[in-house]
Amino acid sequence: MEIKLDIVPVKDWLGEFNKPLIISGPCSAETEEQTLSTARELAKNKEVKIFRAGIWKPRTRPNSFEGVGDMGLSWLRKVKEETGMLTATEVANGEHVDKAFKYGVDVIWIGARTATNPFSVQEIADSLRGRDIAVMVKNPVNPDLDLWIGALERINQAGIKKIVAIHRGFSSFTKGKYRNSPEWKLVIELKRLLPELPIISDPSHICGNKEYLKEISQNAIDLDLAGLMLESHINPKEALSDKNQQLTPAELKHMLCELIPRDENANNIDFDNKLDLLRNQIDKMDEELLEVLGQRMNIVREIADYKKKNKVTILQIKRWSEIINKRLSRGEALSLKPDFINIMFQLIHEESIIIQTELMNKS
Ligand code: PEP
Ligand code: MN
Repeated sequence: MEIKLDIVPVKDWLGEFNKPLIISGPCSAETEEQTLSTARELAKNKEVKIFRAGIWKPRTRPNSFEGVGDMGLSWLRKVKEETGMLTATEVANGEHVDKAFKYGVDVIWIGARTATNPFSVQEIADSLRGRDIAVMVKNPVNPDLDLWIGALERINQAGIKKIVAIHRGFSSFTKGKYRNSPEWKLVIELKRLLPELPIISDPSHICGNKEYLKEISQNAIDLDLAGLMLESHINPKEALSDKNQQLTPAELKHMLCELIPRDENANNIDFDNKLDLLRNQIDKMDEELLEVLGQRMNIVREIADYKKKNKVTILQIKRWSEIINKRLSRGEALSLKPDFINIMFQLIHEESIIIQTELMNKS
């Protein structure tokens, strides 16, 4: 099914900004003082265009801080009046939308847990109908691109055109280097399917700590994402939620200065010519790869025929172990990563088995 969103570019509602667009603020608004002092410090950095703070907090476990609730709305209004930054908060139901709108919140976001539930997303979409507000949709916690796109479509079909997607990583059973695995391939696919959709990365929730924030932020810039949402707290050590991943406004400024900006194009004819040349070589090699794969599968068909005539099994595990071991050591000699070789040959082998099964079962 064709996917189409009717979106207005961010600069049309935010004004001109330099990429990456920076959204920052504490994980949670905790007190008026903490919210305003964080905002005042952040506002000194002109790069920060949108101030974020959660007031209704979805927490994984009960009995943890669940946000200050409605009280935080007036603090956000003060932030806007005092600093001029736009304000953003998370909503999880229609009532939240009504309240945020009433208090002049400029941008709302749908959190990762809420984005997994089409009932909740639809309720939010219904409350948004007829309103002029920007909406950011985080990826669902599970790596399901259709579910993410479905949530974006529901919001768009409610008439909201100021739409942004937020990439905050995906949870997994095994604990890896990051709190939430980035799975960049999903972001790349989303960009391919919806080139006009602005995508902002949320390195704070991907990382879960401060250590890798710069690395993930740079990765997002290298993939030409539109912006970064980074949590910042006036005193992270005392934060009531996500204390390990929040930077002070000064640390944030320092980290942003260290990021290397990238342009989509170099606007330089020599660069374009050289890139074209290299890309031509890649196209040619891909063509050769496909041709070789086609030939390889033809030999597989011959083998299937031969095995069938001689009543021999399709899978011969000894041969398969031999293949994978030989390919891994050859790959290593060519500086190809074992994981890559493994996945590639598993796929090729799977296809060979499918082809042989089809031929064997044909009468
Ligand atoms: C947040 O942004 O504070 C938050 C709760 O994020 P997520 O929905 O990505 O977990
Ligand atoms: Mn958080």
